[in-house]
Amino acid sequence: MPKPILIISGVHPNEAVASCVAQHVTERLKNMGLDVHHLHLPYEITVLGNLDRVPSSTFDYCLFPDGCIDMDMTAKIGEEQIALAHSERLAFEFHNYPITFFSNRLGVAATTRSAEYRIGDIGPGCSEQYEIGYWQNRPPSGIDGKYLIEMPAHYVKVSSDCLSARLSALEELENEGHAFPDGTRDEMIRTYLMEEAQQSDPCNAQFFSGDFISLIGRFILSRATDNQQDDPSDGHH
Ligand SMILES: [Zn+2]
Repeated sequence: MPKPILIISGVHPNEAVASCVAQHVTERLKNMGLDVHHLHLPYEITVLGNLDRVPSSTFDYCLFPDGCIDMDMTAKIGEEQIALAHSERLAFEFHNYPITFFSNRLGVAATTRSAEYRIGDIGPGCSEQYEIGYWQNRPPSGIDGKYLIEMPAHYVKVSSDCLSARLSALEELENEGHAFPDGTRDEMIRTYLMEEAQQSDPCNAQFFSGDFISLIGRFILSRATDNQQDDPSDGHH
């Protein structure tokens, strides 16, 4: 039997295509009889939700510890809570990256290995203008780290009203002593505040196709099965 699976989406709320794909993949795996739980993080607990002034009465931790603004902060803090709540499940977190004209490769070698992570291709193969990639955290503890699945999407710019509201919220945070890690500010703004991958964009319909969903579903199934077999300590902790 494959390991129970956890599908995570919503870490970066502007990557809505990945969240929608996560929902489809969850349904596909459930229909195959697998034990799958889908966790979609609420907008209000993300940094973007905070910048958009979404009322948040629900989260009980600080989004900006140590004065730092990091668009992955939800993932880092949430990871501990998720690990505790779902420690028996193998986690797969869904993300988008912008597909652009001609090739937009992730820029990582499929054979790359390091002590902390491993990276590879999921598909669809060299004839396509994009790739679906993954990397897996490999915590020192030796437990199976979370997989991040990066899939392409067509992005559009947010309205200028929306962007200027976000930038002024950001300025307030910076005035309060919070800041992006050195050298990442402009990149973070460009990647997470200025553009979004919309589910309703006709350019993104291709990413909801049966082929695309089953490609990712098969990858997850293979990992859930592999990891079960690879881990001789499984079931003993
Ligand atoms: Zn992301």
